[in-house]
Amino acid sequence: MSKAIGIDLGTTYSAVSVLSETGQPQILLNQDGENLTPSVVFFQDFDGKDEPLVGIQAKNLAASRPEAVVQYVKRQMGNPNWKFDSPSDTVYTAEEISAIILKRLKEGAENALGDKVEDVVITVPAYFDDARRTATKHAGEIAGLNVLRVLNEPTAAALAYGISAEKNETVLVYDLGGGTFDVTLMKIKDGEFDVIATDGDRNLGGFDFDNALSMIIAEKMEEQGAEDIYTDEHFTALLREKSENTKRGLTTVEKTNVFLDYKGKSYKIPITRVEFEEATKSLMNRTEELLDDVVEESGMSWDEIDQVLLIGGSTRMPMVQRKLEEKIGKKIVYSINPDEAVAQGAAIQATLEIANKSESADVSETVRGLAEKLVVSDVTSQALGTLALSNGVKRNTIIIPKNSKVPNKYSEYFSTVVDNQQNVLVEVTQGDDEDPQFVTVIGESTIKLPGDWPAGTVLKVTYHYDVDQTVFVEVHDSDNHLLGTFEVERQANLDKSAVEVASRKIKDLTID
Ligand code: ADP
Ligand code: MG
Repeated sequence: MSKAIGIDLGTTYSAVSVLSETGQPQILLNQDGENLTPSVVFFQDFDGKDEPLVGIQAKNLAASRPEAVVQYVKRQMGNPNWKFDSPSDTVYTAEEISAIILKRLKEGAENALGDKVEDVVITVPAYFDDARRTATKHAGEIAGLNVLRVLNEPTAAALAYGISAEKNETVLVYDLGGGTFDVTLMKIKDGEFDVIATDGDRNLGGFDFDNALSMIIAEKMEEQGAEDIYTDEHFTALLREKSENTKRGLTTVEKTNVFLDYKGKSYKIPITRVEFEEATKSLMNRTEELLDDVVEESGMSWDEIDQVLLIGGSTRMPMVQRKLEEKIGKKIVYSINPDEAVAQGAAIQATLEIANKSESADVSETVRGLAEKLVVSDVTSQALGTLALSNGVKRNTIIIPKNSKVPNKYSEYFSTVVDNQQNVLVEVTQGDDEDPQFVTVIGESTIKLPGDWPAGTVLKVTYHYDVDQTVFVEVHDSDNHLLGTFEVERQANLDKSAVEVASRKIKDLTID
């Protein structure tokens, strides 16, 4: 029987894990013998045909041929306007690029396990909206995987943390990765994992710290006479790579030298950790604001938080650890691996999904026991509402507030505006604001009415949110007769036939 695996599909690095029969999540080494795979795709072309490379080799080639490389594609998930034109002139969507990475990870897992892999749980930042979640699910399907569920990364990390011992704690999961920042407050109690509040910034991560460091280095090079650094695409890519390495170095040493050759001249640039921390203060402040917001929204105080879980490679930076210890007022216990916990949690969830699906699933006693004990629930990261007239002005009315548990179902009542109204337009919005200008309409449908009602007749609008945060809408009359229903299909996402076409396209690719 094939095994279900967990995949942490990161902005910069990805990891794959499987749950052992004894209930321990293990990281599967990739084709290069590493536990982490850079989420980088390099398009080699042979006779006009693409043969993408994924992982460390692709990352190493990024600086020499930037036009053939895709990095940070996770930031583009759910963005229908983003496309990559490969050197062989084939156009790829963000879903397809992610599918190429996933296919490579799948093949690596199959090598490591000596077995076929189909069933997976893929993790996403808690802050991902439904379009980005759906895009991630589609990427899995395009890669030939059966996506059991997309799971929030902080929830996954808490699962990995909470599985080993009987814990009854409130934990704050602080995830600063390569491209995203997420902060989530969770309660772990008797095997139940409940999200209390979550927030984040999709465009804040290690990458931004690299850029800040690049800027210091470039400035110092200019002081030593270098010119037009940023107009040189190759050098900019090299500088970014050097900056990332230097940043990692500054995690363990207080100062270092960066050596660079530019336009025939050699540069030696001294950098200190203090300078780096100074230059990235505003980034740290941004994480702190979001951190305070989440604690405030939850109605809890800092002393009610038992533990901070640091995940994401960027939490290795001493300033992050310092800041959080200052906030929580005690030493942080490092009981999980910041690079591996998310994939491990996904593996736990994947196995539990399989075990819970059927009594006869081929799982060990231990795993069956875990499946009976563990309950994972999530909350919505974005408010959902609808646009309705209020005293003649169009207003956004929230139907499902932010931080509501999923799956869930909420209803609001509205009334018809004119006599004999023939139909009603339901516009589903995402966002907290009352002003329609500051929310996004994510789907809409016109529902037919009986047509003989007086103005002011009551309608019930119900939103269902499933575990994957897909939205279904139902409209009922006051006697609870169903008038119409629709699923929010975001224009941002591929439709079914596009997913099938993409699957064939990716299936035919040789990926190394
Ligand atoms: P993601 O999940 O977003 O892909 P990861 O959790 O894998 O991200 O973290 C990758 C980020 O962590 C990169 O920006 C990398 O530079 C950074 N990172 C990894 N190790 C260190 C370190 N020792 N010091 C500072 N930053 C690090
Ligand atoms: Mg991550």
